[in-house]
Amino acid sequence: MTVLIAILIFGYLVSSLLAWLNLRHLRTNIDSPLPETMATQFDQQKKLQMAEYTAAKTNLGYWSGLLSTTVIIFLFAGGIVTKLALWADALNVFPLLQGLAALLALLLIGYIAGTPASLYSDFKLEKKYGFSTITIKTWLGDQIKGLLVSGILMSLLFSGFYLFINWLGNWWWLAAWGLVVSFYFLMIFLSPVVLMPLFNKFVPLEDEELKNKILDMAKRADFPLAGVFQMDASKRSTHDNAFFTGMGKTRRIVFYDTMVKGYRHEELLSVMGHEIGHWKMKHIFKMILAVSLMSGILLLAASRILAHPWVYNAIGLGGLYGRIGFNGALIGVALYVVSILFEPVSLLISPLMNRMSRRHEYQSDAFSLKLGNPAADMKGALIKLSQKNLSNLFPHPLYVIFHYSHPPLLARLKAIDAAGKRL
Ligand SMILES: [Zn+2]
Repeated sequence: MTVLIAILIFGYLVSSLLAWLNLRHLRTNIDSPLPETMATQFDQQKKLQMAEYTAAKTNLGYWSGLLSTTVIIFLFAGGIVTKLALWADALNVFPLLQGLAALLALLLIGYIAGTPASLYSDFKLEKKYGFSTITIKTWLGDQIKGLLVSGILMSLLFSGFYLFINWLGNWWWLAAWGLVVSFYFLMIFLSPVVLMPLFNKFVPLEDEELKNKILDMAKRADFPLAGVFQMDASKRSTHDNAFFTGMGKTRRIVFYDTMVKGYRHEELLSVMGHEIGHWKMKHIFKMILAVSLMSGILLLAASRILAHPWVYNAIGLGGLYGRIGFNGALIGVALYVVSILFEPVSLLISPLMNRMSRRHEYQSDAFSLKLGNPAADMKGALIKLSQKNLSNLFPHPLYVIFHYSHPPLLARLKAIDAAGKRL
């Protein structure tokens, strides 16, 4: 048990330390000179607001992390996990369902522990800075739909895992890996047509002129596009974004409705050119490949770890292991342990993934310029995005290594200038 608790506390401390460094770095660098093109958008008042917003989010992170870590530790140290497993084991159902009951109950407790932070963020913090527009009704709807969707997906995955563990012994991880990777692809294909519409309304981009310009550019880049959509993101928040989603027939570009207003066509086209770059250079495919590889390694590690009785002693479940064996409820509990350990482990591998992703961002920016989008428009779009989202202009380099999938704004602007000169 001490091993598990030590890992959880270590994970919490490392991520809190990074967040603290990041905030301190912002405060000491807030008066650094900015490029002239940004000075009007980031005046003293805006910079102070950005620092305040970053601080508020950092503080919320400390508290929500502390709460969820404490709850998990209490679950183990307080013997709740053992009680839950015995309860599930006593259920008069198939062992698969006993495991599922134990797993879902534990995940539900974790979800409840995260709810205060989610409520505070949506109804207090994000409202204070003028971002959140969400109503209680939408929030509740999101929670119910989210729980249902993740409950169904979890049940499917768990059933697969359970059956593989029973049929394949030590080799279960290989089949589970196949299942997880197929799931990734299925999700990418289905999410724009099945999952996302549960939460948002998607309509073809209303601005015909812009839509034609985008389709025109896609054609020039030899990039078949299933559609250009806008999404009613404004019913939750005024944060801006645009993204690519789907695969093959479901491939599409989506603009937040908040972003369609407030940006010039040229700026939106440069963002669009960037997104086309991701596909043209197979970034999404490479990312899925990397994530799949990581999942394989983690599953292999999980299969080796879970095969040893001493592991159950180490997490305080030795008695349980002796009593019910690696079956039913204990498989549910074991996979829950794997899932909570996944967080500190993924923090450790995040620098690799983030580095790859940031490199892709630079490459896509350069691609957009090559498509004929002027550097000034690309930079204009990014500056506006940062200003409206109150993004931290001065993140700590170490924080960037661990948490930034996109380069910080200033580095990105510099790279765009350099790429523009190379053309
Ligand atoms: Zn990108």
